[in-house]
Amino acid sequence: MTRPLAILGGTFDPVHLGHLRVAWEAAGALDAELALVPANVPPHRPQPVASAAERVAILEAALAGQSRIGLDPRELARRGPSYTIDTLVELRGEIGAQRPLVLLVGADAWAGLPTWHRWRELFAQAHVGVLARGGVAVAEPDELAREVTARRTTDVADITAAPSGRVIEIGVTALAISATRIRTLLAAGEQPRWLVPDALLAVPALLAPYRARGGS
Ligand code: ATP
Repeated sequence: MTRPLAILGGTFDPVHLGHLRVAWEAAGALDAELALVPANVPPHRPQPVASAAERVAILEAALAGQSRIGLDPRELARRGPSYTIDTLVELRGEIGAQRPLVLLVGADAWAGLPTWHRWRELFAQAHVGVLARGGVAVAEPDELAREVTARRTTDVADITAAPSGRVIEIGVTALAISATRIRTLLAAGEQPRWLVPDALLAVPALLAPYRARGGS
């Protein structure tokens, strides 16, 4: 059986230790290959402070020196909105029909899943791994709970045994770190030490966009 491919999407403006630690733990829990998938933010939405190229440079520096977590920049190359369903369909075409694919989502994003474009189709392409931070129960609207009751599992073997369709909660360490806080610190001329990998502080140019353009 091939190892699952798991993806974690986000703005990563910038990536921080909260993202990296949950990605690391989820990859370990699922024995999966993991890719971070930075989102292309459509023009009508508030834009990230750093450009796509700047966010990629930061991600590459953060991920250097390990191979458990990779980077998949495909959404940045796409024009217009990046819908997760499109990314999953594309990945499914590349990895074949049989390999397990897991979409990782934070508990907050999970609760909002019914607002996502073609959300019911996600389960035909991938499993969903809900990142439960610090054992806090994950809230679910009724519409979502109804859709996923039969899909739920607590057994990782169910994820490796099928290409898609199951929902599993993955307990991860809660680190109260947000990109917003890091942008605020940088805009105030402070160092986000111990909130981001040291590699990002070692090269001043990497986080310079946040110092120059201010926080938001
Ligand atoms: P911002 O502060 O700009 O809103 P963010 O820090 O929440 O950003 P995102 O890029 O929006 O970062 O997050 C991408 C994914 O990582 C989401 O699924 C989110 O739930 C998860 N995530 C963000 N911060 C943490 C954290 N501290 N611990 C665990 N997961 C996190």
